[in-house]
Amino acid sequence: MSVNKAYKFRIYPTKQQEILIAKTVGCSRFVFNRFLGQWNDTYKETGKGLTYNSCSAELTQLKKEFVWLKEVDSTALQSSLKNLSNSYTRFFKKQNQAPRFKSKKNPVQSYTTKHTNGNIEVVNNKIKLPKLGFVRFAKSREVEGRILHATIRRNPTGKYFVSILAETEVQPLEKTESSIGIDLGITAFAILSDGRMIDNNKFTSKMEKKLTREQRKLSKRALNAKNKGINLLDAKNYQKQKCKVARIHEKVTNQRDDFLNKLSTEIIKNHDIICIEDLNTKGMLCNHKLAKSISDVSWSAFVTKLEYKAKWYGKTIVKISRWFPSSQICSDCGHQDGKKSLEIRDWTCSVCHEHHDRDINASKNILAEGLKSFVLAYTKI
Ligand SMILES: [Zn+2]
Repeated sequence: MSVNKAYKFRIYPTKQQEILIAKTVGCSRFVFNRFLGQWNDTYKETGKGLTYNSCSAELTQLKKEFVWLKEVDSTALQSSLKNLSNSYTRFFKKQNQAPRFKSKKNPVQSYTTKHTNGNIEVVNNKIKLPKLGFVRFAKSREVEGRILHATIRRNPTGKYFVSILAETEVQPLEKTESSIGIDLGITAFAILSDGRMIDNNKFTSKMEKKLTREQRKLSKRALNAKNKGINLLDAKNYQKQKCKVARIHEKVTNQRDDFLNKLSTEIIKNHDIICIEDLNTKGMLCNHKLAKSISDVSWSAFVTKLEYKAKWYGKTIVKISRWFPSSQICSDCGHQDGKKSLEIRDWTCSVCHEHHDRDINASKNILAEGLKSFVLAYTKI
């Protein structure tokens, strides 16, 4: 099966390359905003928008008027236009809000460029990018397949990254004849029906404390600057602290992503059928007790990763209803023992007297229920 895989690498541009990246971001933003303005005007007058093709033709004219647009990667400008027209299409289909003007002050600055005639490629420990030429990068793995496009990004902390999308062939993984149930934990991240508890709270809570502390410092500095009548953009101490907070954020995000990637890959590799609860995260976030742990450990990001990896490698994800009373049923005898409040971490079945850990029992039930519905669906075909 051919799939699109994304790769993200840190890049180390030279001073000159940095300048060119900034210029390209600026020009892409200019093109986006200019055509957005025109698009809005036309829409107000006629009730219809423009088309990508008409804008693209006009872009050629625009380059004669603003010659500096020619200094940067032309496919980046076209991508910016394509991006605008796509957002408009989605807006007309009522899938998202109307596109908004891009700001210079946006903390993340980026542009996207398309692959044509070998203009993007990895050669040893450097990556070739249009107009920029060879850029040094931290090659953490090989890029496999046909490169489709690349996005060059500057983070609020001043680090540069490239995200590459490549089309590649994946082979189904070997079948293991093993199935597993996963329960979203409250004390741990996830509990598997084989009894394993997956924890990442130690790291998160430590970093979280640090983040809260540094954020408090940041608001104090903002207040200080305000009292002294200094504009935040010119407040050195404030800006320094802002960078520090962004760095911690970045670290937390990266570590979490890494953790979720490793865990989802391991589960997909070792099991053929993976049963999980179909959680309505929005609904659950209203419950304050659960809100923190869920947003913390990015359960939905984990499910997304499991789902696409299952598709790639020929494995199956079975989602069971979130109303299924997984923590009420005894996984040994099937007796439904009634509702249990969140404080109850373990209990003894009143019928078979088996003693259960709340979460392990729940994940066993999720596995059994998932397999049941999988077999049902299978026999219907
Ligand atoms: Zn029982």
